[in-house]
Amino acid sequence: MVRKLAAVSLLVCLTVFTSSLCAQEYDLLLKKGHVIDAKNNRDAVMDIAVKDGVIARVEPDIPSASAVKTLELSGYYVTPGLIDIHTHSWVDQPHMLEHGVFPDDFTFRNGITTVVDAGSSGWRTFPEFKEHIIDHAKTRVLAMLNIVGAGMIGGAAEQNLSDMEAEPTAAMALKYPDLIVGIKSAHFNGPEWLPYEQAVKAGTSAHIPVMIDYGARRIERPLSELLERVLRPGDIYTHMYSGHRGEQDSQTGGPGKGMREGRARGIIFDVGNGSGSFSWAVAVPLVKAGFLPDSISTDLHVHSMNTDMKDLLNVSDKFLALGLPVKEVIADMTWHPAREIQRPQLGNLSVGAPADIAVLSIQHGDFGLQDMYNTVLVGHDRMVCDLTVKDGKVVYDLNGMTGDPWDSPPSSASRQAHRWTTLMNERGFGTARRTPDAKPTKP
Ligand SMILES: [Zn+2]
Repeated sequence: MVRKLAAVSLLVCLTVFTSSLCAQEYDLLLKKGHVIDAKNNRDAVMDIAVKDGVIARVEPDIPSASAVKTLELSGYYVTPGLIDIHTHSWVDQPHMLEHGVFPDDFTFRNGITTVVDAGSSGWRTFPEFKEHIIDHAKTRVLAMLNIVGAGMIGGAAEQNLSDMEAEPTAAMALKYPDLIVGIKSAHFNGPEWLPYEQAVKAGTSAHIPVMIDYGARRIERPLSELLERVLRPGDIYTHMYSGHRGEQDSQTGGPGKGMREGRARGIIFDVGNGSGSFSWAVAVPLVKAGFLPDSISTDLHVHSMNTDMKDLLNVSDKFLALGLPVKEVIADMTWHPAREIQRPQLGNLSVGAPADIAVLSIQHGDFGLQDMYNTVLVGHDRMVCDLTVKDGKVVYDLNGMTGDPWDSPPSSASRQAHRWTTLMNERGFGTARRTPDAKPTKP
């Protein structure tokens, strides 16, 4: 009798795939990938089940039949969605039209699900930035407010000390705590400490870190004093391997005293490759001396995107070439930046966390990796993003691993695609496709 009932329910399942008798509990199941999750200290082959946009289960073996869509990922790395904490995203910024890159252009194809715009907008312009970019991007866009009220618009505006005010900057940050994760100072050329002191004051009032692009090198404000006195533990020094402001000790070639003492105090060091901020002559000896990045970021903008910095994975390849283990490089693009911007719910694969996931693989060969002077270090590993999941939905699929063969009828999974992918929504003309047995319509 029991066997007969089972047979009946199986039949119902086969004929009525949406029947609650056989409804799959999970929307998406990633099986047998090598999971790297620094927060949870995971570095092993595991299965990850996703339901309703969040991580539902992480275990060595979750049955394939329990999910609408199951992907076999042997040979791939499965990591939290990557986080790039130094980008410039305001593509239509007034007075600065040729600077920002719209986030979605570079993110999902690189496994990135969260970016931080590092100071495009200031307190006067943040609402406009939010309306134009943050509210429209499919990528999760967070922001650091520029200490310059007018934002990053170049020229005299970024040198205007009278527009660097802690109070209104902190007030704007506190008005949008879900979006504003830091204060940025950048491109300042004068001898004054005021931009940095105001940034720290705003950061202290709003309980968020500051990120410093230290502008022109000035003897009046040496790097050691910035890192040992002005900044607080948890504040972020970006462009760490540029060599522009005394990062490197001229005698030893290793990290300067300010860098070492800053790290000992808890200052965070970020890559921010950009178009003019990564030098092999600095990075090689600093890394050799053990001065590794806390986070790997791009400083992506219109003028850096086609230089020695191609995208985040290209920057990550530089650190693989310098000998960092894959596990460390992934942590520098996931859990470490999440912690730096005080977003512990991101950058990890804990049960209950947003299901932001990158599926990555590594190609082997000889790959020339450039720096800002067009000098080259040859690496042998190239990280590739094969699949990206944001909030539980596949948003990027390089090799069509989620697709059905074109000449077979739609699978049950594709008929329930709304549960696990957005790919079919991206087309302007709907999701219906002609099946192989469909009769051609007569003219
Ligand atoms: Zn930048």
